[in-house]
Amino acid sequence: MAQRQFQTEVNQLLHLIIHSLYSNREIFLRELVSNASDALDKLKYLTVAEDTYKSISFEPRIDICFDKDAKTLSVSDNGIGMNEADLVESLGTIARSGTRAFLEKLSADAQKDSNLIGQFGVGFYSAFMVAEKIEVTSRKAGEDTTFLWSSNGQDGYDVVRLETGDKTAGRDTQGTTVLLYLNEEGLEYANRWSIEDIIKRYSNHVAFPIYLTYDENEYDDKGKVKSSKNKTDKINSGAALWRRVKSELTENDYHDFYKQISHDSDDPLFYVHTRAEGTLEYTTLFYIPKKAPFDLYNVDYKPGVKLYVKRVFITDDDKELMPTYLRFVRGIIDSEDLPLNVSREILQQNKVLINIKNASVKKLLGEFKALADKALSGGEEVKEKWETFITQFNRPLKEGLYQDYANRDTLQDLVRFKSTAVEGWTGLADYVSRMKGDQKSIYYITGGDEKTLRASPLLEAYRAKDIEVLIMADEIDDIVIPSLHSYHQTTDSPEKSGADSKTESRSWELKAVNRAGADEELGEKKDRAAEKEIKPVIEKIKKALGDRVKEVKLSRRLHDSPSCIVADENDPTIQMAQMLRAMGQTEMPDVKPILEVNGDHPIVVSLKNTEDEGHIADVAGVLLDQALLVEGIKLKDPADFVKRLNRLLAS
Ligand code: ADP
Repeated sequence: MAQRQFQTEVNQLLHLIIHSLYSNREIFLRELVSNASDALDKLKYLTVAEDTYKSISFEPRIDICFDKDAKTLSVSDNGIGMNEADLVESLGTIARSGTRAFLEKLSADAQKDSNLIGQFGVGFYSAFMVAEKIEVTSRKAGEDTTFLWSSNGQDGYDVVRLETGDKTAGRDTQGTTVLLYLNEEGLEYANRWSIEDIIKRYSNHVAFPIYLTYDENEYDDKGKVKSSKNKTDKINSGAALWRRVKSELTENDYHDFYKQISHDSDDPLFYVHTRAEGTLEYTTLFYIPKKAPFDLYNVDYKPGVKLYVKRVFITDDDKELMPTYLRFVRGIIDSEDLPLNVSREILQQNKVLINIKNASVKKLLGEFKALADKALSGGEEVKEKWETFITQFNRPLKEGLYQDYANRDTLQDLVRFKSTAVEGWTGLADYVSRMKGDQKSIYYITGGDEKTLRASPLLEAYRAKDIEVLIMADEIDDIVIPSLHSYHQTTDSPEKSGADSKTESRSWELKAVNRAGADEELGEKKDRAAEKEIKPVIEKIKKALGDRVKEVKLSRRLHDSPSCIVADENDPTIQMAQMLRAMGQTEMPDVKPILEVNGDHPIVVSLKNTEDEGHIADVAGVLLDQALLVEGIKLKDPADFVKRLNRLLAS
C-alpha cells in the first residue's frame, strides 16, 4: 500500500484518461517530451536570469530509451528537476483550479470532451494509459538529493529519498527521468520505429535535441543475433522554421518547408510570416498555393492549417482554425498562450484561439489586398501573381462575402468579375472609378456562362448608353451578390488633407439587369403617344401567352432584339430556380418571367394590324421562347417552339 493518496481530482482525471483516450494513447509520449522541454526551458532561463544558477553549465537534451525485454520505456531530461515537495505538488495533485472546473463540466458531452483532451493533452498522467507502473527519478537544479516518485496509478503514490550525497543515485545530473513499466497496450511503443514516428509527428519541432537509444543487432545466417550495438540518434529536426527570424531565412527555406507540410510539389504562390508579441504571443506562417487544393469544393476537405502550442503539434484536423472561405490557406499557427495541458480554463483556450484566428484572417486579407493594389501599378511579375491568385481563389473569397460580415469591406474589394467594359478581371472599385457622371447604381447580369451572358439582349440598352455591366458568370454570384446589396467605399478626401482631413463614405446599389426595376436609369421613356399605340399589341401578346408569363411589358432596355425576359423584383431568377431545383429543392415554386417586348421591332410592330389569333399566338410564343433560349434556359416544350417557328417561316 502506498504511503500517499492522490488528490480526488487526480483520481477522476486518471479514470477519464484511461477510459476515453485509449484510441489516442500515443500522445503520452508527446506529453512527456513536452514536460521535459518545459523543464529545459525553465532551467535555461534561470541560468541566464539568476546568479545562483549561472554556474550550472548544461547542454539541454531529451533522451528516450526503451528495453523490449524488460518492457520499459524512459524519457529523461537534464532540466530544472523536482525535489520532494515539487513531486508531491506536481504529481500528486492538480494544482490549478481550472482543472477542477474542467472536470466539473465534463460528463455533459463525453465524446466531445475526449476529443478536446485528445487534442490539448492531459499531461503526465496520460502515461498511465500505457504503463502499469511509473517511476520518476528527479533531482532539482542546485540541490544534491535525488527523489524517487512511484505509483501504479491506482492506489496513491510513494516518494522516497535516494541516498543522500551520492551524486549518482538514480541519475547523475539535475533533471528528471520518467520510467514507464509498460502494460500490454504500451508494449507496441517499445520499438524504435513507433517512437520515431510519434516524435516526428508531434514533437519534431521541439527546440531541444531528442535522442533515441536503441540496439542495432547483427544477425548470423541462421537469423540469430550475433552482436548488438547500442546506438543513439537524434530523431527530431529541432528547427521550428517558423520560430526563426525572417532575416535568417531564405526563400528556399520557406519553399522547402511548404512542400513538407502541404504535400504540394510546387512552390507556393506566396507566404505570410507573422510574429505577434504583446498580450497574445504567437507565430503564424501561412502559404498561398499556386493552385487551389483538389478538395477545395468537397464538404470534407482537409484543413490546411496546423495548430502548434509552443512548437508542439496539436492538430491538423480542426476546420475551425480558419474560416471555411480561407480553406485554401496552408501553414501553421503556433501559440505561446494556449496550454498544452487541460489544467487551465477551456473557455480561455477558445478565446485565445479566436483572437489569433481573427487577427490571422485580418492579416491575410490585408496581404491579399496589398497584392491587388500592387498589381494595379506594379510590373509584370506582380500582375501575374495577382492573376493567378484571383483566378484560383476568387470563388472561395466570394463565399466570404456572406460568411464574414466583419471583413466584408475588405472582401468586396478583393473579389473580381468579368465586365462589358474591360478585358479580364475587374473589381467593384474599378467599376465605380469608370462610372459616367450621373450613374447611380452598379449593374450586373447573372445566370449562365460568360458567353451566354455577353450575348443577352438585356445588355443592349446598357451598351447603347455606354453603361458598364458586370458579367457574373460564377454560379456562386447569384447567391452572394444579391446578399451584398450595395458596395461601400471609404476614401480620404484629398482636398481636405492635413489637420481637418475627412474620410468620405459612399455607396452604390448593385442592380441585376435581369430584374424588373433595373432599367430606371436607361431613361428611354417612350413618348406617350407611341406607348398608347403599342398597348393593344402588348394586350394581344399577354392574352396569347396566358399564365406562361407573370406580365408583358414594353421594354426600355431593348435595342436590336424583339424581346427579353426579366425576373420580378423579389422573385428568384429562372436560372436560379433551376439551379436550386437541381440541388434538390423540390419545393421550388414555378417562377414565371416577365416578358419585355421591343416596341420598335418589326416583329412586334407587325402585330398591330392583325387579329388572327393563331398567328398572334405563334408570334407571342416565339417571342417568349427565344428570350428564354438566349438566356440559356431549356425550353419546356421545344417541339411547340419549332412548330410555331416553321409556321411563321412558311407564311
Ligand atoms: P503540465 O505540464 O500542464 O503542468 P503535467 O501533469 O504534465 O501538467 O505536469 C505537472 C507538473 O509536473 C508540471 O507543471 C511540472 O511542474 C512537473 N513536471 C512534469 N514533468 C516534469 C519534468 N520532466 N521536469 C520537471 N518538472 C516536471
